[in-house]
Amino acid sequence: MSADALTARIYQTLADAFGYRTFRPYQDEIVRALLDRRDVFAVMPTGGGKSLCYQLPALLTPGVCVVVSPLLSLMKDQVDAAQKNGICAATLNSTTSLAELREIYASIDRRTLDLLYVSPERFNTPRFQEFLSSVELGFFAIDEAHCISQWGHNFRADYLELGQIAELFPNCPIAAFTATATDRVSEDVQTLLKLRDPFCVRASFDRPNLFYQIAYKEDFDRQLLDFLREVPDESGVVYRSTRKSVEKTAEFLRKQGFKAEAYHAGLTDAERARVQDAFANDETPIVVATVAFGMGIDKSNVRFVVHGDLPKDVESYYQETGRAGRDGAPARCLLVYGYQDVAIHRSFLDDYQDPEARDAASRRLNEMVAFAETDGCRRANLLKYFGETYIPPNFNADENGSDADSDDAASSEGASKTGCGCGGCDYCVGSVRRVDATVDAQKALSAMQRTGNAFGVGHIVDVLIGARTEKIERFGHDRLPTFGVGADRDKTYWRYLISALLTQGIAELDPSKNFPIPRVTRLGWDVMRGQRQVKIVERPTGKKKKTTSRRSGGSSTLLSGGGSSAAFNSAANPYSKSSLSPRDRRLFEELRALRLQIAKDENVPPYAVFSDKTLVDMTYLKPETDGEFLDVSGVGRKKLENYGYEFMQAIRKFLEENPK
Ligand code: ADP
Ligand code: ZN
Repeated sequence: MSADALTARIYQTLADAFGYRTFRPYQDEIVRALLDRRDVFAVMPTGGGKSLCYQLPALLTPGVCVVVSPLLSLMKDQVDAAQKNGICAATLNSTTSLAELREIYASIDRRTLDLLYVSPERFNTPRFQEFLSSVELGFFAIDEAHCISQWGHNFRADYLELGQIAELFPNCPIAAFTATATDRVSEDVQTLLKLRDPFCVRASFDRPNLFYQIAYKEDFDRQLLDFLREVPDESGVVYRSTRKSVEKTAEFLRKQGFKAEAYHAGLTDAERARVQDAFANDETPIVVATVAFGMGIDKSNVRFVVHGDLPKDVESYYQETGRAGRDGAPARCLLVYGYQDVAIHRSFLDDYQDPEARDAASRRLNEMVAFAETDGCRRANLLKYFGETYIPPNFNADENGSDADSDDAASSEGASKTGCGCGGCDYCVGSVRRVDATVDAQKALSAMQRTGNAFGVGHIVDVLIGARTEKIERFGHDRLPTFGVGADRDKTYWRYLISALLTQGIAELDPSKNFPIPRVTRLGWDVMRGQRQVKIVERPTGKKKKTTSRRSGGSSTLLSGGGSSAAFNSAANPYSKSSLSPRDRRLFEELRALRLQIAKDENVPPYAVFSDKTLVDMTYLKPETDGEFLDVSGVGRKKLENYGYEFMQAIRKFLEENPK
């Protein structure tokens, strides 16, 4: 086939089977490498579109392509979604019945099966390997390939046996996919799978549709409510570090009228499966969970991820936030953390037996704290952690850094000019300001020191504001020179400042005491001597500010909802449903209800029918003919055939009932 003919076929398949006109970064190259029968090693972020990289060439390759995937639930979802696109796919695992097995074998005999998803356990049985050697094979795709490496965070002993593929099936290309970035794991995967001069891809880890924001924990419940008000009716995950806090937060949200459920390792398997299904099916929009709620989530329309406590390292933060916005539509990530979280993580470090492992975990924790505390663009800082240098789209030196309007700049003297203009983080939209708090820090540290580093935060604050409590009089603290030096600020401010000092290691909680007693550290002494400056994030004031920013693929407006909580609501972004007019919003809701109905009838998750992004596009285009329906992003021939009529009917009816 000529190069042009091949290109035409590839794009035809992209449109017919997947409903897309363009590739995401590197998809094209990977597809072509596999069609050239070359091994592939691809590191792509979650939501980067890995499945298409092997599903598309599988359609153009004779023989059956075998996909190894670690989780049953993921396999089922993938197979459902592939079948909806008219791809002939099946899964073979411990739950496959004999009848299903016969059907699969028969379809392989008929040469109609494109993709066979198997668990590593299944692959490792001699019977299955014997079977594979008797059929025509396309290639192998290894999903979540980092599971083969002991250096990865999800090592699975069963994956090690996949190292045999290259010997058992020497003529079959192997494509390995992972979203785990470290070099050590990458090398390990390639060696263990014995890849032969693979075509290597390392896509950028930037997730341009994610908005990052980080705040100090003051009153998590209130902070969470404020945030949820900005993402009404959306679906998302709230991570908490313990079962108890998971239960507490879920209960709180239910009391506030949200449909939220808890998920943690203490629930029965059946209960966990139920919560996960209800979330996937959009029946329970919000799940409050420990990180146990993880790899099983393949739901593409997760619109927000909140961390109610500090994650244990930056890698985990990236993975967990990465579960938002897989469909490419805007999604938001909020991290709320405090010194208590750091202290809890430190206490877990003692559980490590191996001192080397303990040091490594401690280093990773410090990097996480540093990430949360560092000035500047969150996106740039996050990517730097993965060794990437972030260059904002449409970077323009003139505009950069000059977005603060004058009265804001005046109101926070000493605020650092930060942010690189990514447009997708709290720094870059100007809702975070670091202010110099050296003098206040000196006052607070001095109050700790002069009271003998022996009192809790409440008492220290009372000394600072000059409260005449019984305790103050009993200890004679009203005679200290620090008494009342902070009367110009309120209690909340001083508590906030002391939290910041504790997270920054300028003060620490005395480990020998049963109560949280802050004391001055070595760094703290430097501050008291005037040898070190202290900067803290200015507390949110609820002031509204509007910033416009230019992002890749056009312009979008980012509206900050005041204070620390800048909304990622892109009015000009065609894929944000919050940008729909009220009339379109109603149509969207009707289409969404229809999708849910169909998904229930067919017993698949709603996003396997159409993604949110597809529904939004459909709402905009309001297709009335088959040709117009095919123009909707994410609609291929099969979906037109299966759902076109029903959705176009619904649109027609809506237009009749709601004339312009
Ligand atoms: P990953 O496995 O890398 O996390 P997926 O394969 O689940 O990502 O793809 C994420 C989403 O992106 C899916 O909803 C998929 O349909 C969509 N997608 C994949 N490729 C494209 C493309 N070329 N154009 C538009 N959307 C795409
Ligand atoms: Zn930024």
